[in-house]
Amino acid sequence: MDCSSKKNQYYTEDEAAEALIRSHIRFNKPAVSYYLCSECAQYHLTSRGPQHPLLNRPEVVGRIHKEQQSQDWSQRLGRK
Ligand SMILES: [Zn+2]
Repeated sequence: MDCSSKKNQYYTEDEAAEALIRSHIRFNKPAVSYYLCSECAQYHLTSRGPQHPLLNRPEVVGRIHKEQQSQDWSQRLGRK
């Protein structure tokens, strides 16, 4: 279904949560949360509002850290 927000759509909350975590791994200004859209009835990421509590979970914080480090390494190795 099309949505006037033009944002990426995620069918399930799990997918939205995964996308939120990945945005924190990849971007300097990541999305802070996701929400269920009343227009398309799917999830979107948002950079406004309070940070989703998921991002404070130790296992999530640890994963973001770890993947950022390995991303740094692969960038450095690629720059030879
Ligand atoms: Zn929508």
